[in-house]
Amino acid sequence: CGIVGYIGKNDTTKILLDGLKELEYRGYDSAGIAVLKDDRIDVFKALGKLVNLEEKVNTSASSNYNLGIGHTRWATHGKPTELNAHPHLGEYSYVVHNGIIENYKELKEELISKGHKFVSQTDTEVIVHLFENFYNQLNDTTKAFQSTIEKLEGAFSILLITKVDSSKVFFFKHGSPLIVAKGNEKEEVLFASSDAPLIGLASNVVYLEDGVGGVASADSIEFFCDNYSWSTLPTSKQFAQK
Ligand code: GLU
Repeated sequence: CGIVGYIGKNDTTKILLDGLKELEYRGYDSAGIAVLKDDRIDVFKALGKLVNLEEKVNTSASSNYNLGIGHTRWATHGKPTELNAHPHLGEYSYVVHNGIIENYKELKEELISKGHKFVSQTDTEVIVHLFENFYNQLNDTTKAFQSTIEKLEGAFSILLITKVDSSKVFFFKHGSPLIVAKGNEKEEVLFASSDAPLIGLASNVVYLEDGVGGVASADSIEFFCDNYSWSTLPTSKQFAQK
């Protein structure tokens, strides 16, 4: 239902949780974040209100994460449970997803026959296994992500992070909204499914068109095609006056 992402030197867990709060009005049944530091990924998930997630993060998260992704879920496939909450894990990568993967059943069967182990009932979990399936063959994260996208049918906005290429966030938009932003501070990139979480933190944004994706790290945002343009967000003051 809602997506946020962050790369930068500020407090990653706080920025993700604050961002998810800005998306709360859209409704959700569970929420989660995955945060990465060097090549370690910590994940926190909770059913119900964001305060439940916040409590878990505040008691167990360490600090100085380099990047992270977050999600509020409105279940379409698989009951609202902690296990079905995003981010979803493969063996070394995590994904958050808004939308519906229409062909997930075929993909899931194929991946299970190749030895992938699924733990949730969601459509989303196929994305991360597909990515790892391709990465294991291609040994190239960008190509693996692009091959993954080519296989998906339905509506999907996606952020994916992986231990094997730990400075990057892979993103793609098709159907559900997704925005990429250059943070106001140096070497900062933000993502969100609507502009509310970005107000005050970023002013240069790309409202991704369908079919546009790319890969971002602290100092670069690369798009897979030329079909994008930068626009300017209002400042918090201008936004408040609206
Ligand atoms: N279809 C996914 C699920 O059920 C994503 C739902 C959403 O957009 O929140 O987990």
